[in-house]
Amino acid sequence: MVKQEKYKGKFIFVCESCNFRYATREWAEKCEHHCETKHSCSLEITKHAIKIK
Ligand SMILES: [Zn+2]
Repeated sequence: MVKQEKYKGKFIFVCESCNFRYATREWAEKCEHHCETKHSCSLEITKHAIKIK
């Protein structure tokens, strides 16, 4: 399940498999689907992740 979190007043979406965060649910769902089926992260997907310090 993609988790929704609030960050700096906006909602962001988190892949529960790898904990990468995305600005859109679409990317988080793509990431999660990839994580669950391939058991690894896709660079093509994770490059869209938000970097949070
Ligand atoms: Zn993921």
